[in-house]
Amino acid sequence: MRLRSAPLGADRRVCVLVTDRRDGDLAISTDPDQLERRRRAIVDRPWVWTRQVHGAGVLVIDADSDVTTANGTEADAIVTLRSDVAIAAHSADCATVALWAPEGVIGVVHAGWRGLLVDVIGAAITTMRSLGATTIRAATGPSIGPECYEFGSDDLAELRAELGDSVVAATATGAPALDVRAAVAGRLDQAGVMAVDIDDRCTGCEAEQFWSHRIRSDTARQALVVWSEP
Ligand SMILES: [Zn+2]
Repeated sequence: MRLRSAPLGADRRVCVLVTDRRDGDLAISTDPDQLERRRRAIVDRPWVWTRQVHGAGVLVIDADSDVTTANGTEADAIVTLRSDVAIAAHSADCATVALWAPEGVIGVVHAGWRGLLVDVIGAAITTMRSLGATTIRAATGPSIGPECYEFGSDDLAELRAELGDSVVAATATGAPALDVRAAVAGRLDQAGVMAVDIDDRCTGCEAEQFWSHRIRSDTARQALVVWSEP
């Protein structure tokens, strides 16, 4: 795992943790008891997680939310002001994004190409602002790099229309590719959010560290987990 932290307002910190293969498979289809043990070994507090559907839905966990009931909701982002939970996004190639603001609002996003197209990142940021977030910062988890991500030209044209030429790249063999990192940076920029830490590790290339759906047909998932603490 890789743990980073940053100040969150005057007296708290936000923690952003990216798991890898050594932390175990965190796919939500894993045996629930085994999964709970794995999660608690990584961050010992209640985890909030969703059933990710490549959409723009945002799950808000407020003071009254029952985490157990909320878990498994269909959504690709989670936003909360709560300091007693860890919020998680899962992936095996798709981008994951951590978001935080000094008012104590934190967020996580799962964004593959469909999520980038429908702008789930912007949806999470808008939700954070509705909860009082002002200056939002972002960090990302690992994702598939353009050298590994051959991409259909029609879908690539749609993303280019939304996000500009920077998302268009080439694979190691010269085929059209999507630059997921550039697309994430583009969505953050459109929403006025500064990324302070971009993880440029490729889930395809780094087979010893990460699972990859595209390159190795892995069904296991790594996670990006965010929480705040004193
Ligand atoms: Zn790669």
